[in-house]
Amino acid sequence: MTTDLRDRLRGDVIDAGDDRYEEARQLYNGMIDKRPRFIVRCTSVTDVIGAVRYGRETGLAIAIRGGGHNGAGFASCDDGLVIDLSPMKGVRVDPEGRTVRVEPGCTQGDMDRATHPFGLAVPAGIVSSTGVAGLTLGGGHGYLTRQYGLTIDNLLEADVVLADGRLITASAEQHPDLFWALRGGGGNFGVVTSFRFRAHPVSTVFGGPIFYDIADAREVMRWYREFLPQAPERFSPFLGLKRVPSVEAFPRDLWGREICALVCCFDGPADEADEVMRPIRQQLPAPLLDGCTPLPYPALQSLFDPLLPPGLQWYWKGDIVRDLPDEAIDVHLEHAAKAPSELSLMHLYPIDGAVQRVGADETAWRFRDATWSMVIAGIDPDPASADRLTGWARDYWQAVHPHTVGGAYVNFMMDEGPDRVRATYGDNLARLAEVKRAYDPTNLFRVNHNIEV
Ligand SMILES: Cc1cc2nc3c(=O)[nH]c(=O)nc-3n(C[C@H](O)[C@H](O)[C@H](O)COP(=O)(O)OP(=O)(O)OC[C@H]3O[C@@H](n4cnc5c(N)ncnc54)[C@H](O)[C@@H]3O)c2cc1C
Repeated sequence: MTTDLRDRLRGDVIDAGDDRYEEARQLYNGMIDKRPRFIVRCTSVTDVIGAVRYGRETGLAIAIRGGGHNGAGFASCDDGLVIDLSPMKGVRVDPEGRTVRVEPGCTQGDMDRATHPFGLAVPAGIVSSTGVAGLTLGGGHGYLTRQYGLTIDNLLEADVVLADGRLITASAEQHPDLFWALRGGGGNFGVVTSFRFRAHPVSTVFGGPIFYDIADAREVMRWYREFLPQAPERFSPFLGLKRVPSVEAFPRDLWGREICALVCCFDGPADEADEVMRPIRQQLPAPLLDGCTPLPYPALQSLFDPLLPPGLQWYWKGDIVRDLPDEAIDVHLEHAAKAPSELSLMHLYPIDGAVQRVGADETAWRFRDATWSMVIAGIDPDPASADRLTGWARDYWQAVHPHTVGGAYVNFMMDEGPDRVRATYGDNLARLAEVKRAYDPTNLFRVNHNIEV
């Protein structure tokens, strides 16, 4: 069987007998431990087609791997076939047309490094090692989201290998139903082998973290909920409840200290940044640390990379948030104080501004009138802490969930079952199921937040 699979491909096939197997099966989330039968390192669209056909003929479960960052570990599966796209790392920038074509093995860092020399950027997430592919197909939010929308709002077209092995292009003009579903519906419909994005003029930004003592957190959170909706869209501060990491980048006397953080990005010149930052500096208590400074956009994008190497234990839960009433702030402060490790955190990422100018039924991602995407993440290097991380994130989420919109961002979910998938897609679920029936009627692509046919 393996010979048959190998005969179809240019890329490597790694199985349990291969010296590279242990390394190749690792995912970013060290809490996930899956043993696939084959890992196919795809080097081209032809390899992807060969692997998909092989999976269909043999009935093996198929997992699709872009950057491997998915918390639930959907980039792998026990005893199945992993379509590993990590060797497909091409990026081609069209500086005049301000578009970028990105292959599915690229991380955000690969994309940012390719666009930055042209003074361009595509809105995406805030950690450079995250895969462009999984992030995009779930929605994608980050520092440029308030200004330019979600990553999917900047997707122009995608090449997709379907369950029957056909390669098609989905865009507003071609297969618009599939294009609609890809923008938030995850890996349910096929393997995307190329993304084409609109890019924007972004070069040097003003940003970084500001840390407040946890004793000031209530005041900061109350201020933030009023400030954000009327802040210029070029300014995107996200809020975090966490601890100061014990690393040289931060003053030793702050290590391990509980904080409320505002992590800022202003896409504009430093002299205008003063104006934008004035309310923060005048209306909030004195911070423990203000690390905001002009820096190249890719530098801000990779600021937190050293804190979050692959292999840490992660358990996270998310929800979409519209308002932040005092009662919710109380819940946040109570549960954040019980964080089980120094790296564990709660973040509220802004998804207002440009995101709200798209209709809830225009893409599979439907949260177009919300303010934040929330994540509660238990994180620690020690595998022995897995239960504590999980228990804390679940309890915290349970307590704050009544104050949220109800559904979540699929990229901030573990494998949480069909009810959570239904709650997340809401009114868009029936249309997603229709698209699934049209493009993947046998549910070949089921290792994901599955849209049932
Ligand atoms: C440290 C960290 C920071 C993060 N920060 C952000 C953030 O700022 N903003 C944000 O929006 N998200 C963020 N995320 C969440 C991130 O979007 C998800 O983890 C996402 O799944 C990562 O994509 P990936 O390609 O790396 O993952 P993978 O695990 O490789 O893929 C995830 C899933 O996506 C699907 N998929 C991947 N590639 C393809 C493809 N080519 N075709 C079809 N389906 C595919 C598959 O179902 C796959 O299982 C962060 C995650 C981490 C771990």
